[in-house]
Amino acid sequence: MISLLGIPLDENSSFQRGAAKAPQKIIEAFYSESTNDHSENGINSRSSAKVKVIDPLVLPSGKSAIEKIYNVVYNELEKGNNIISIGGDHSITFPIIQAYAKKYDSLNILHFDAHPDLYDNFENNPFSHASPFARIMENNLAKRLVQVGIRTLNDHQREQVKKFNVEVIEMKDYNSNLSFQFDGPVYISLDIDGLDPAYAPGVSHPEPGGLTTREIINILHSLQADVIGGDIVEYNPINDVNNITAITAAKLLKEMIGKLIIH
Ligand code: MN
Ligand code: MN
Repeated sequence: MISLLGIPLDENSSFQRGAAKAPQKIIEAFYSESTNDHSENGINSRSSAKVKVIDPLVLPSGKSAIEKIYNVVYNELEKGNNIISIGGDHSITFPIIQAYAKKYDSLNILHFDAHPDLYDNFENNPFSHASPFARIMENNLAKRLVQVGIRTLNDHQREQVKKFNVEVIEMKDYNSNLSFQFDGPVYISLDIDGLDPAYAPGVSHPEPGGLTTREIINILHSLQADVIGGDIVEYNPINDVNNITAITAAKLLKEMIGKLIIH
């Protein structure tokens, strides 16, 4: 079973709040009658036998919120479910991966983002949405971290990339012939701002020059990997235009579910 888990947490956002309102909007778009239930690889993504929506979390703040996310994800994994989490800002990925790492000792992460999110210290908030992958790598929670769509590396983050052996495919070097192969389980973390803001304007940190919706879908489809979970984060409804970013996030959710069910 795939559990769809809304995680309405945006207090670790460094620039603008609003992502906490995303889970409900994405779930609404996902179940909208404006589209049907089938992913492009032929899977009924709304099958109630295979996909269930969990009530969005009610969260405390600070460290307690991070611990609650860990506990809920861990419990779902213990039940034998795979989880697709719908954020929320990118800070949710650290406790999710902490839980996944308990179950999987050689986890691969495929991370789409404009930003590497590798800051050692951002505004003295260890849980900042600018730092989840620093926390993940310094705790040895992933065997490989592959980042795609990156276009904001500064000197500090380049040092972090080297320190943690992150495989970064910067947007300036991206081409559609790249193939992504993994040995062992793969978790997909999809920051909506990895997309070009032309496709996804509803984000807190729009960074032009990004991926198209089609490019991300093609990477998902061509992935030769055992995908065991994922998240969709950083959608900010406050900045959306005609709901297009919610619809795009819902489309990517549909394709991600298709990938998880077929693996
Ligand atoms: Mn991010
Ligand atoms: Mn980002």
